[in-house]
Amino acid sequence: MDNRGYYSQFGGAFLPEILAATFDELEKMFEDVKNDPGFWQAYEEIMSSYSCRPTPLTFAGNLTDHFGGAKIYIKREDLNHTGAHKANNVMGQGLLVQRMGKKRVIAETGAGQHGVATATMAARFGFDCTIYMGEVDVERQRPNVFWMERLGAAVCPVKDGTRILKDAINEAFRDWVSNMDTTHYVLGTACGPSPFPEMVTYFQSVIGTEARAQILKVEGQLPARVYACVGGGSNAMGLFSGFLDDPVELVGVEAGGKGLNSGKHASRLCAEDASIGVAQGYKTYFLQNSDGQMRETHSIAAGLDYVGVSPILSDLKESGKARFEAATDTEVVEALSLTIQKEGVIPALESAHAFVQAFKEAPQLSKDDIIIINQSGRGDKDIFTVADAFDDPGWKAFITRKAKQYNA
Ligand SMILES: *Cc1c(COP(=O)(O)O)cnc(C)c1O
Repeated sequence: MDNRGYYSQFGGAFLPEILAATFDELEKMFEDVKNDPGFWQAYEEIMSSYSCRPTPLTFAGNLTDHFGGAKIYIKREDLNHTGAHKANNVMGQGLLVQRMGKKRVIAETGAGQHGVATATMAARFGFDCTIYMGEVDVERQRPNVFWMERLGAAVCPVKDGTRILKDAINEAFRDWVSNMDTTHYVLGTACGPSPFPEMVTYFQSVIGTEARAQILKVEGQLPARVYACVGGGSNAMGLFSGFLDDPVELVGVEAGGKGLNSGKHASRLCAEDASIGVAQGYKTYFLQNSDGQMRETHSIAAGLDYVGVSPILSDLKESGKARFEAATDTEVVEALSLTIQKEGVIPALESAHAFVQAFKEAPQLSKDDIIIINQSGRGDKDIFTVADAFDDPGWKAFITRKAKQYNA
């Protein structure tokens, strides 16, 4: 990164003038904590006593035998509190908010996972919490809205635009402009204006640092390749951070949805129809139409369904330091099913994208090679989607009975 928050041509901070002082303050605080070993100690302490760090690195012996190639290891971010790597980011930002002396946090959320993680952090730290969520998402993600409200957060349905994630982000920025003295905006991924991409990566780098030490301990050798799914890019940047200076191939897997030529996907780094632009305060690859309007995206995994991507990943793509692939919805359900049956772990639909690509490549590698897949989250949250994908008759009967009970 250069001193204006650029990663070659990507990144930057395109902000309303009124937020300049707030960003200066945030930037300064982030610099301070990076130079303070006590801060990282406090972070590790809370992540080990309140979440589940260090998370295990699990050898997937049955999948390894099944594919007959590289040894497959799984980094278990699903074992974090609230079920995903998102805890790493929100708890880190929580400690930062405490240092800044602020008492209120706001966040945007699409599927609701980042909203639940932020509301959890706010409950733990005693902060007021407001979550912005598109009205359409509030309708379709009721279980997460339920938990955010139980955790004490105010959930604000956003009625502007297409009433989804990007509209929630705009509303969160509006709130921040009016309340910047008391409020911190807990951005959910390695996107947005500088310093967010670097700050979120900093907290998520714990994934890669741990994974590197763990694999060296059990195997005495580095992996040939590491795989992570890419929504905004935070779990991928977290894993990749541990291996940037190593001869390790970094593979990011985007949401191919119904196929890269279908127009129904969320692939910004592999698809021909993505292009470079500036939106939501930063420059990166976006899915936009010719006059810069953001397009609708599609993925079976709500957490990958986003129009932009981390500027750091855009840079890694252009420099050739990382490779990007896409997995379709159909491939994802197959890989998920196989992983559950072979290993007894349930990856999130998001994470299953990384498994798809790893499964394609494992048989081509030798038995002496090692690969690591990041299981960014756990899949029990996906029961509605997965049960539909399998057309599960028992589940359908259960939902129908429940609905009748409420209608009676
Ligand atoms: C939110 C989420 C993602 C996508 O976010 P990134 O910033 O790309 O990591 C991936 N996996 C899970 C389980 C998530 O909840």
